[in-house]
Amino acid sequence: MEASDTEKITSRQIVNGLSVDVEDWFQVGAFENVIKRDDWDSLSLRVEDNVSRILDLFAAADVTATFFTLGWVAKRNSALMRRIVEAGHELASHGYDHARVFKFTRSEFAEDITTARKVLEDAAGVRITGYRAPSFSIDSRTPWAYMELAEQGYAYSSSVAPIAHDHYGWKEAPRFAFKPLPWSDLVEIPVTTAMFGGKRLAAGGGGFFRVLPYAFSRWAIRQVNRTDKRPAVFYFHPWEIDPKQPRVGNAPMRSRLRHYTNLDKMAAKLGDLVHEFAWGRMDMLAHREAQNPVEMSTDIAA
Ligand SMILES: [Zn+2]
Repeated sequence: MEASDTEKITSRQIVNGLSVDVEDWFQVGAFENVIKRDDWDSLSLRVEDNVSRILDLFAAADVTATFFTLGWVAKRNSALMRRIVEAGHELASHGYDHARVFKFTRSEFAEDITTARKVLEDAAGVRITGYRAPSFSIDSRTPWAYMELAEQGYAYSSSVAPIAHDHYGWKEAPRFAFKPLPWSDLVEIPVTTAMFGGKRLAAGGGGFFRVLPYAFSRWAIRQVNRTDKRPAVFYFHPWEIDPKQPRVGNAPMRSRLRHYTNLDKMAAKLGDLVHEFAWGRMDMLAHREAQNPVEMSTDIAA
């Protein structure tokens, strides 16, 4: 057996979490200051075509995944929600209209996730038990968020980027599954980071996956699987495989660079990724990881 075959089998032993944050090209956090919420209904919807391509890509690789979907999108694309579920994927919540959790009060957050869940459940006819905060916006400012999710009966959240970043991040949070509340089984599954030179690097997808060479993500996921012996959690967005999306000309240069780089290469890169590693739904990963959470010395959400 070739060394490379042995390596591939080793890294295949852990089933990683594959996720898609289902929002359209005009709903990303980076454009929120230039595209008004009131204008959303006048813009062209591209999310259905893009999710269709993703469903084909996943079917070709025989993988299942979790689609964290905005209530706003589900309300306008109920047939698409049913197609996601019928293909064996998990449908989960990404909130209603991409407002960040740390901008809410607890009661506003409760209303947002209740509304989103109802729209998703009505559209697809399944129960929603997973949640991902828009822009990974659960952090030390939002201790009530986990309480609300637990009280509403969610099984897991994947809403933390345990890293320092300009838009988001909770750098003190554990890198792997933890139970934020001592009285609840709710488990948080942070998005993947890899250790390099004693520092945490964002390695779970988004712009990093698109902008950096594929070899970086391969290295990072292998390191997490082999050294940390944990599953990686990867995410991307439907608009990232859509080079023909309208260009938002008046957004800041930095946002535009991050948003539009390598859109034309993304589908092929995702193809490499889904074929190279073993992937599955986040609810199943959360269920396994809940058996082996990172021990918390105190309730960090308190
Ligand atoms: Zn999002």
